[in-house]
Amino acid sequence: MTYASTRGTVSGVQFSEAVLKGIAPDGGLFVPEEQVRFDSLEIAEMSEMNYKDLAKAIFSRYATDFTEAELDTCVENAYGSKSAFPEAVAPLSYVSDTLSVLELWHGPTSAFKDMALQILPEFMSVALKKHPREDGKARQIAILTATSGDTGKAALEGFKDVDGIRIMVFYPENGVSEMQKYQMITQEGSNVRVMAVRGNFDDAQTGVKKIFTDNALNQEFNERGFELSSANSINIGRLLPQIVYYYYAYFTMVRDQKLKLGTKVNFVVPTGNFGNILACYYAMKSGLPVNRIICATNSNCVVSDFINTGTYDANRTFTLTISPAMDILVSSNLERLLYHASGENVKMIGKVMDELKTAGVYSVDRKTLANISSIFWSASGQEAETMETIGSVYKENQYLIDPHTAVGVNVYDKYAIATGDMTPTVAVSTASPFKFNKSVLQAVSEDTLKEMTEFEMLTVLSEKTGCPIPTPLTGLDQKPVLHKGVCDVDAMRSAVSDFLV
Ligand SMILES: *Cc1c(COP(=O)(O)O)cnc(C)c1O
Repeated sequence: MTYASTRGTVSGVQFSEAVLKGIAPDGGLFVPEEQVRFDSLEIAEMSEMNYKDLAKAIFSRYATDFTEAELDTCVENAYGSKSAFPEAVAPLSYVSDTLSVLELWHGPTSAFKDMALQILPEFMSVALKKHPREDGKARQIAILTATSGDTGKAALEGFKDVDGIRIMVFYPENGVSEMQKYQMITQEGSNVRVMAVRGNFDDAQTGVKKIFTDNALNQEFNERGFELSSANSINIGRLLPQIVYYYYAYFTMVRDQKLKLGTKVNFVVPTGNFGNILACYYAMKSGLPVNRIICATNSNCVVSDFINTGTYDANRTFTLTISPAMDILVSSNLERLLYHASGENVKMIGKVMDELKTAGVYSVDRKTLANISSIFWSASGQEAETMETIGSVYKENQYLIDPHTAVGVNVYDKYAIATGDMTPTVAVSTASPFKFNKSVLQAVSEDTLKEMTEFEMLTVLSEKTGCPIPTPLTGLDQKPVLHKGVCDVDAMRSAVSDFLV
């Protein structure tokens, strides 16, 4: 299997190279050049596998330049007994007769980003060894990330103590929650650094982008043996691991006798950058029996509007919601869907991505839109609906969900009413409710809440609902603070330079 750019000027790229590059040189995203297809015999075999073996079976078709032993190591390190994940890795909860919930938040940071960010560093580490430097020096990657909260911590946990890699995370000093801050400043690992920036998230992100595009600085780092890279969700090495849990959820239902092998299901996915849901599409295209993929957005509903009209219009107000990981105006991975749904029309993609950059808006042709709407259904959930959904799911099913998952469940309700479709549906759950204590506690409480810190809320929510606090979030405020650094935006480059010695 080789990979090509969605913009058409690059092809024949090995998986390992695509993982190291992240983005294609022409600005496009890497996509598989052949359609992977599992036949019914293979699917029957896969249905009996545990998570790790299933992951290997799927990866072996996409990461063809990795040996079996290399894949074995990657999967064992990411999801095996020494990882934070339980044996099932992604357990399924049956919430009602028609709705099951796929819990993707049992990793080290209690959010779904772990599913991919625990294995991406393993992929990178193997890829580095496959592509040594020409001058014989050891290759080292330095991951730089600005974070508004969740991604930074998930990346830190993924990359800590991985051979050949360093990671530095910048967060806005006053722009993350107390819990998120504690998760980061207590981060352990010999190759990590965390730094607060005096400024907001945009300042931090702009600072990181400046470092990435400073050629002289990059040259200097290169001479020291370091290459800068990012870990964002357009990396093909993040997409691939997300395909696995769609198969796994399906096979879990078959094993639990909720489904007969071959019967179709729906998935509803809370969507931001379109990575998670795109993996569902890849799973379907490779043979998983899927009826409909339901795309749930919050009030930043640019993707929903696109799926319903064929016009992507980013010229709108950005709203901060209680499902912040879905607050987005430019949804990067959508470019990959356009590539597949347009019959690999790379010329059109180059054109519309240009229009998006210059005018903030583009439209696709009728046939591409028809291909998309034959598979995807989409709607958005407003803030009040999200709160109501957390409350009603808890009351009716004694099951606690976070605001992102609640957007999904709310949109599923809208789908069921609009279509009458009775197909069994899996709602993808992307964060532990304990990561969003305040909203969740408010949603399940009858009375108004008194002032509490986030750590007090953790305990109160757990006592009230009887749900255990996830291990990664317990005792955080007692851990030693290892990263006390604060810097101005202008000092970010020297902070990176100090780290890369
Ligand atoms: C990142 C994230 C999402 C959005 O996923 P995409 O792959 O970007 O669409 C949804 N919920 C949570 C909790 C997330 O962290």
